[in-house]
Amino acid sequence: MKGLKCTTNNCEHNDHDHCMAGIIDISESAVCKTKLKREGGTLSQIFAEYEAAPDIEMLEDVETVVQCDADCVYNTNRMCSRENLNIEDSVIRTKCFSRKKPV
Ligand code: SF4
Ligand code: SF4
Repeated sequence: MKGLKCTTNNCEHNDHDHCMAGIIDISESAVCKTKLKREGGTLSQIFAEYEAAPDIEMLEDVETVVQCDADCVYNTNRMCSRENLNIEDSVIRTKCFSRKKPV
């Protein structure tokens, strides 16, 4: 998918709210298992983004394959079938906030 937005403030794969990992793995509890914390923490992400001006068009074109183990209406054979995905930091982990549990 092209519409993945991730607003985590501490991941090596994150560039201006876009994920550059290529393939990500979402757990049963919708946590991003591909997250890789930066050695310098959140400050290092702020500095990295400050130094590199974003090429917005290039970022919008990034394709991400989303493998997922969560029980969710958008899960098709362990692949996410949504067009857009919001991933955000929660209190403890970085999770998929687009998850919709089947009724
Ligand atoms: S937390 Fe996950 S979705 Fe967000 S940038 Fe890192 S690897 Fe990508
Ligand atoms: S929307 Fe559902 S299927 Fe897609 S990544 Fe999130 S939890 Fe997984």
